[in-house]
Amino acid sequence: MACGNEHVDLLNLDLASLALQLKAWGIATAHAGHLRRYLYRDGVRDFAAMHELPPRVRAQLAESATITTFAIERESRADDGLTRKYLLRLHDGRQIETVLMRTGRRTTVCVSSQAGCPLGCVFCATGQAGFDRNLTAGEIAGQALFAQQVLRDAGAVRNDGAPDRVSNIVVMGMGEPLLNYDAVMTALDNLCDPGGLAIGFKQVTISTVGVVPGIFRMASERRPYSLAVSLHGATQTDRLRLLPVARTWSLEELMDACRRYAAALHRKIFFEWTVIAGENDGAEHAAALAELLHGIPAQVNLIPLNPTTGYAGSTAADSAVATFRELLQASGIKVSIRQRRGIEIAAGCGQLAASPNA
Ligand code: SAH
Ligand code: SF4
Repeated sequence: MACGNEHVDLLNLDLASLALQLKAWGIATAHAGHLRRYLYRDGVRDFAAMHELPPRVRAQLAESATITTFAIERESRADDGLTRKYLLRLHDGRQIETVLMRTGRRTTVCVSSQAGCPLGCVFCATGQAGFDRNLTAGEIAGQALFAQQVLRDAGAVRNDGAPDRVSNIVVMGMGEPLLNYDAVMTALDNLCDPGGLAIGFKQVTISTVGVVPGIFRMASERRPYSLAVSLHGATQTDRLRLLPVARTWSLEELMDACRRYAAALHRKIFFEWTVIAGENDGAEHAAALAELLHGIPAQVNLIPLNPTTGYAGSTAADSAVATFRELLQASGIKVSIRQRRGIEIAAGCGQLAASPNA
């Protein structure tokens, strides 16, 4: 909300708050629909160009409101341009990374939820770099809108000839989304709204390392987004070796929260497993994981470890990953192996650090 001469970032406001804010500025709430279309669907960032709004409204907005934009510090491309990583500078000079990945069927944006991350998972470049601050809802939604603009500017088309647009969002960039719960949910709600980018709820995945209160809150609020839980170890001891956060919320508490979420939403949960040679890729680990997931609607996503400078562990061999998958499948568990994209530009899972040389 407005205070003093500060400009209000319109992308920070949910539907109800936007209407209230317009009212406070003496603008009829009937203009909210047009305004949202400019903000989300058309990507207009200059109030003067919002021609369907009366001049008086445009002038009032220009005086009191702002819209998140980023400065592009660097663009890196891989896979013939189908994977693009952007280093974006925020208004206060902090930097985040956003990744745009196109395949024939999907156009996915991987968004950051924090500048850095306080949780320090040993194999993650973001965790190795430390924590700056939470991102605002506008900065989170703004990354998807930025990606949409990139597609628009490139005149990108899908395989079937239709204009390409963002179809999926994964909150798997820098940071832990459930430590920035309100901003993440406001951003996703705005993007999924039919007046926003109209992305399907199930096409949005929130990945958490196991912030238990956030999972309980998603369950009690019946948040319709897909949930991915970064497990990596199937015992408390194994998790503790990799994920300091396991000291705060034990594996037992985490699995309780997952059961609650699955029951409340009638949804399966994705469990992510970064496969590290000799650490968590053995038959005994597969057996422990199968046992742990017993009775939970689950799909396991195997992510071959991506290299980061701060961690000496190595990627499991393809054959080890394949065997691990077969063992899980033999226990009746659905498994997918995450396609590795953009490793050469450090755009893979856990490689985002906004470092000048990445
Ligand atoms: N903080 C959230 C989301 C961001 S990390 C979380 O941890 O879930 C997104 C995914 O990348 C997580 O599953 C994380 O464990 C994984 N990841 C982190 N570092 C990695 C690395 N070096 N190689 C492969 N996956 C990694
Ligand atoms: Fe943070 Fe996720 Fe990286 Fe862990 S893996 S340090 S929770 S971003």
